[in-house]
Amino acid sequence: MRTHYCGELRKEDIGETVTFYGWVDRRRDHGGVIFLDLRDRTGIVQIVSDPQRTPDSYEQANALRNEYVVAITGRVTQRPDESLNPRIPTGEVEIYADKIELLNAVRKQLPFQVSITDTENVREDLRLKYRYLDLRRERMAQNMQLRHQVVKSMRRYLEDLEGFIEVETPILTRSTPEGARDYILPSRVNEGEWFALPQSPQLFKQLLMVSGMDRYYQIARCFRDEDLRADRQPEFTQLDMEMSFMSENEIIELNEKLVCHIFKTVKGIDLPRPFPRLPYAEAMKRYGSDKPDTRYDLELVDVSDVLKDSGFKVFREAIANGGIVKILPIPNGNDAISNVRIKPGGDIFKEAAEAGAKGLAYIRVREDGEIDTIGAIKDNLTPEQKQEILTRTGAKAGHLLLFAAADTVTVNKTLDRIRQFVAREFKLIEKDKINLLWITEFPMFEWNADEKRLEALHHPFTAPHPDDISDLKTARAQAYDLVFNGFEIGGGSLRIYQREIQEQVFEAIGLSPEEAQSKFGFLLEAFEYGTPPHGGIAYGVDRLVMLLSGEESIRDVIAFPKTQQARCLLTDAPSSVDAKQLKELHVASTFKPKA
Ligand code: ASP
Repeated sequence: MRTHYCGELRKEDIGETVTFYGWVDRRRDHGGVIFLDLRDRTGIVQIVSDPQRTPDSYEQANALRNEYVVAITGRVTQRPDESLNPRIPTGEVEIYADKIELLNAVRKQLPFQVSITDTENVREDLRLKYRYLDLRRERMAQNMQLRHQVVKSMRRYLEDLEGFIEVETPILTRSTPEGARDYILPSRVNEGEWFALPQSPQLFKQLLMVSGMDRYYQIARCFRDEDLRADRQPEFTQLDMEMSFMSENEIIELNEKLVCHIFKTVKGIDLPRPFPRLPYAEAMKRYGSDKPDTRYDLELVDVSDVLKDSGFKVFREAIANGGIVKILPIPNGNDAISNVRIKPGGDIFKEAAEAGAKGLAYIRVREDGEIDTIGAIKDNLTPEQKQEILTRTGAKAGHLLLFAAADTVTVNKTLDRIRQFVAREFKLIEKDKINLLWITEFPMFEWNADEKRLEALHHPFTAPHPDDISDLKTARAQAYDLVFNGFEIGGGSLRIYQREIQEQVFEAIGLSPEEAQSKFGFLLEAFEYGTPPHGGIAYGVDRLVMLLSGEESIRDVIAFPKTQQARCLLTDAPSSVDAKQLKELHVASTFKPKA
C-alpha cells in the first residue's frame, strides 16, 4: 500500500516508515552500500541499502538494474551533510530500505538511457518510437503534468466562474472550412460517401448557440491535413468556446480573465490587465506582422512616399508597381554590419532571401547624421530625402537602417523576419518577460492569388465590422487574435447570425448560391429559426502549453505526437490496409508502390 510518491518525501517525514513504488533511475554501488535513485512521475528519491543496516533488502538492492519496477518500504532518514542534494526537492532525505520487492525487471537492452542525468541528446525518432520510456523522463513527466494543469485551470475557470458547459461535437462530420485540407474517411454503410474529420467544431458550436446553450466550451481535437511545418501537428487540441449575447469587448474581457487565471494557477504569475489591443492595420504597418513580438521595440518605418521618385531604380520600381519601401532601424546596428554574424552575404541577408526578398539595402548613420553605405542608395538620396529618413526613423549615430523594397507582402514578411532575427542576435528580449496582445479589426478577406478569388482571413462565418457593411470586400471583421510573445495562441470573432449577410459573404468568397446551399444549407436554415447574436474563440492548447513550459517544440508537450512527416513512430501509423477492407469501403487505391 503506497503511502507516498517518490518526489513527495521531505524533512518533515524523517522517522516515518513509508512505502512507495517506482522505477530505478540509477543504481550505484559505493563499496558495498547500494544507492538507488527511485523515480515516479513526481520526481526522484534516494534509497540506501547495506548489509549492516538493512540486511533484508540488500540482496534485492544489489540485483536491481536501471528501469526495474520495485515496491520499497523503509525509514525516512536525514541525509548526512556531505550528501545533501539541494538540486532535488527530496535532497535532504534518504530512505533506508527495509524491504524491496521486485515487481518487474527489464529484459532487453534499453533503447536509450532514461535516467535524467544523460537524456538530452537522445535522437527524437528514438524518443518517439519508445515514447512510453521517453515520458518516464522527468522533463516529459513534468510537461504532461503542466498540460494537465493548464487544461484543468481552463475547465475550472469556465465552469465554476463563468457558467460554461462542455459539449462534445462529432468527429465524423462534414468538412468545416478553416482553410486547410480535410482528412476524409469512407463510409462503409453509405456507399460512395465520405466523412471529414473536423478542422474545428466551428459550425457545431454556432448551432449550439442557436440551441440556446448560451456558453459552450470543449477541449476539442481538430484535424488539418496541412503541409507540416515545425510547430504543426495533423491533429491538435483546442480550447474551443462560443457564447451568446456578448459584445466583442465583453468576449475579450472574459478571455483576458481566463488567460490571467491560467497564468496565475499554473505559473503563479499575475498578469496586468487589460492587455493592449492593436488593430491589424497598425500591427502590419509597425511590425509587418499580425502576431508581433512586442517585448522589444524595433518598429518599421514606411518611407514609400519619400522615395517614390528615388534615383535608385529598385525603390522607384517597387513603388511604381504598387509596392512599398520600408526601413527597419536598428540602434547600435552600425558596427554589427561589419561583424561576422551580420554582414553582406551573412545571416541578415540569408534571412531576407528566405523571406522572399531579392536583396536588402542599408545605410549606416555616423556622427552628425553623416551616412555611409555601399554605393547605390547614398548616391541617389537627395539631402531632403536623407533628412526626412533620419527624422522619421529617429536614427542617431550608430543606427543601421535596413531597407526592403518590393510588394507589400514581401516587404513585411522580410522585415518581420529580420526584426525577430535581430532581436535574438542582439539579445533584445528580456528573459521572463511576458507579453500578451490582442490584434483586432482583421480584414474580412485576403486575395488568394493562386485561385484568383477573395478568401476569408479568419473563416467565412466571421461578422463584418458594422461600420464597413456597405462594402464587404474591403470590410474589417469583428475578429481578434491573442498573441503571446510573438505567437498566436488564440483567435476568434463575432459571428454572422443573419442569413442575408452570410449569403453575401459566401458570394464574396466565390461560392455560388447552389454551392453555399449544398455545403452550408443546414447553417443558413438554422439562421431562420431565431439565432442569437454570438461569438467565440479557440486557443491552441499544444502551443500554449509549449510556451508555458519553455519547450521549443509542440511535440514535447503532446503525449503521442506525430513526426513532421505526419507519422506515428510508436504504432507505425499510417499503414496500408488489406484489399478486403478497401473493398468493403467501396474504395480502390491508385497508389503504386515504388519498385
Ligand atoms: N474555429 C476557429 C479556429 O479554429 C476559432 C473560432 O473562430 O472560434 O481557428
